[in-house]
Amino acid sequence: MSKHFETEAIRTQINRTEFQEHSMPMYLTSSFVFEDAEDMRASFSEEKERNIYSRFTNPNTSEFVDKICKMEGAEAGYAFATGMSAVFSTFAALLNSGDHIVSARSVFGSTHSLFTKFLPKWNITTSYFKVDEVDTLESLITPETKVLYVESPTNPAVDVLDLELLGEIAKKHNLIYIVDNCFATPYLQQPIKFGADLVIHSATKMIDGQGRVLGGVTVGKSELIREVYLFARNTGPALSPFNAWVLSKSLETLAVRAEKHCENALKVAEFLEKHDKINKVKYPFLKSHAMYEVAKKQMKLGGNVVAFEVKGGIDAGRKFLNTIKMCSLSANLGDTRTIVTHPASTTHSKLSEEDRNEVGITDGLVRISVGLEHVDDVIEDLQQALTAV
Ligand SMILES: *Cc1c(COP(=O)(O)O)cnc(C)c1O
Repeated sequence: MSKHFETEAIRTQINRTEFQEHSMPMYLTSSFVFEDAEDMRASFSEEKERNIYSRFTNPNTSEFVDKICKMEGAEAGYAFATGMSAVFSTFAALLNSGDHIVSARSVFGSTHSLFTKFLPKWNITTSYFKVDEVDTLESLITPETKVLYVESPTNPAVDVLDLELLGEIAKKHNLIYIVDNCFATPYLQQPIKFGADLVIHSATKMIDGQGRVLGGVTVGKSELIREVYLFARNTGPALSPFNAWVLSKSLETLAVRAEKHCENALKVAEFLEKHDKINKVKYPFLKSHAMYEVAKKQMKLGGNVVAFEVKGGIDAGRKFLNTIKMCSLSANLGDTRTIVTHPASTTHSKLSEEDRNEVGITDGLVRISVGLEHVDDVIEDLQQALTAV
């Protein structure tokens, strides 16, 4: 990145048209025209780099990808319709039948389903290590292992993994190291600095930041992205130009939004930690977090998600949710609006109870994505709901 993060987020823009528009226009077009037969031939043979068809590239998606690449320190990338299409397409593009993945046990619910239900159809298997047992990771690696996959912080339990340590292990065993950086955003953490080969985002979350559109992106080493691009170009999970335009605009304000989200989240975490109706609180920048030192080392701020447990298990958790007045009960996160969720009955309900407990998703666990309302109003809402429990 040649300029500062905030500057690149605002000033990275594809070339202006003859109209000299200041703000990036939207290119709602499915295809692009050729000068003549030779132009068409050269474009399809990739002798020329240009837009052909919006399933391959489009000016809006290219601008969005360029920005994410600069923010993450990546060589190249491709934008997807959703975070999950980015996760799936990345694996489908890079792995063959018989290949093996080593992943942290705590991953996003749909990623977990991909590992357990769908990838095995193509004879791609996954072994898991617990986030607090990274020392067992190397024993899971076999000659068939191709990928090391993690999220940090994890969804929804807000565990933190030592990205640099994992990068060293991946390098030693020649694995493709993939990090889902959704919870941190590129503003708080750049996994490529710690050895990641590829970084994935659900742009639906804090990158959009206003709960409007779905999107995803994979960025990293050019030779790997080339495979991801060819797979996506032929199978069609492309991000729409409209959503790309929205997301690229959102990146212009990511830094200021992230600062405020994290400031509010830390205050909420501190409030909850002191509350006598709460069992435990997990937030990367609370000193009580098991990986506080690592979080401080690899993240600029602690993120906007706090996980906590209401005393009294599932009944208390339900009562708490039912008494919330202002905060939204919703499945999204990273929105301007504070969102409270109960992972055991929603995003992670497809996991068995045993699997849930293993990844720290107890029945009473509540995940709060702290928004940009005045933090005192958020705390007041949580306080009145806790009083009722
Ligand atoms: C939401 C989420 C995804 C999936 O993204 P979608 O845009 O909903 O498909 C993947 N990983 C993490 C960590 C997420 O929070």
